Amino acid sequence: MTENTWCGHSLRRIAAVGAVGLFFMGAACSSFPSENDALGEFSGAFEADPNSGLAFSVILTGRAEAPEAFLYAGGSYLRQRPLAHVAVLVRHRTETFLFDTGLGRNIDRQFDAMPFWVGPFFAYETTNAAADAIGGAREPLDRIFVSHLHWDHASGLPDFPDTPVWLRREEYENAIDPASGPPAFLREQYEAIPNEWNFVEFDDGPYELFDQCSDLFGDGSVVFVPLNGHTPGSMGMFLNLPSGRRFFFTGDLSWALEGLLLPAQKYFVSRSIVDGDAGQTRTSLARVHRLLQERPSLHAIPAHDALAQAYLAHYPDFEH
Ligand SMILES: [Zn+2]
Repeated sequence: MTENTWCGHSLRRIAAVGAVGLFFMGAACSSFPSENDALGEFSGAFEADPNSGLAFSVILTGRAEAPEAFLYAGGSYLRQRPLAHVAVLVRHRTETFLFDTGLGRNIDRQFDAMPFWVGPFFAYETTNAAADAIGGAREPLDRIFVSHLHWDHASGLPDFPDTPVWLRREEYENAIDPASGPPAFLREQYEAIPNEWNFVEFDDGPYELFDQCSDLFGDGSVVFVPLNGHTPGSMGMFLNLPSGRRFFFTGDLSWALEGLLLPAQKYFVSRSIVDGDAGQTRTSLARVHRLLQERPSLHAIPAHDALAQAYLAHYPDFEH
């Protein structure tokens, strides 16, 4: 277990700076698209095959904490919130894949490429790289999907050099653009790795409130949808389990469940650093917000919200 140091104290220092920033938040917050705007129409969800064998497990690869105010606009400056860096292991009767990798074996060295000033925002403590967790258990792995290629989601890719990577073409092209780099992207994690790259095509028509989707196995059990905004090629993943329970992994659209439920954007400093397109992020947030109002039994899981993930099965246990 390692700890990326100068971070704990600095987070508190940044909280003080953030209090000043609160003054500016009103001006910085833009409105969300209303239901009357172009959020799309509900298409209804696909029927999910009860024989899909679908199950998933959360692999905790790292931890962090931050004042709640950093996670979503309107959060408390006084309350510390636990954060998680996770990979999600998904088993289908036909294959096993990861959704995101969390922090990989070499995150400390990779992080050296970060400019010093972002360290306080991105403090982390490693737990167990996904490759060590599932490698030790000799878990077969057919593919890796990534919600997007930011450093805390792609860090583990080099640990799986033989495993094909799947993502949206827009995400790949944005990440290899010469303009993409720290603090959002750490190119070492994906630029020269030997993995085969493949692109998710949204060619299975509308799904829920999304006008396009990818029904991975054609059985409604795993469905990817675009979540533009945080990055140009961000995507979310629905898992529809044989038990009837439904989960929606929303990547970094919001860092806290409250951001989806209210809805609320990230803290204004955070979003200025990490959200590529503020307008598209608000539209995606409004869409997910409306979806959750319509589907109250759907469990939305932001990639870093440790409280939202606390009740989920963690590896080697699985949700069925
Ligand atoms: Zn992230």
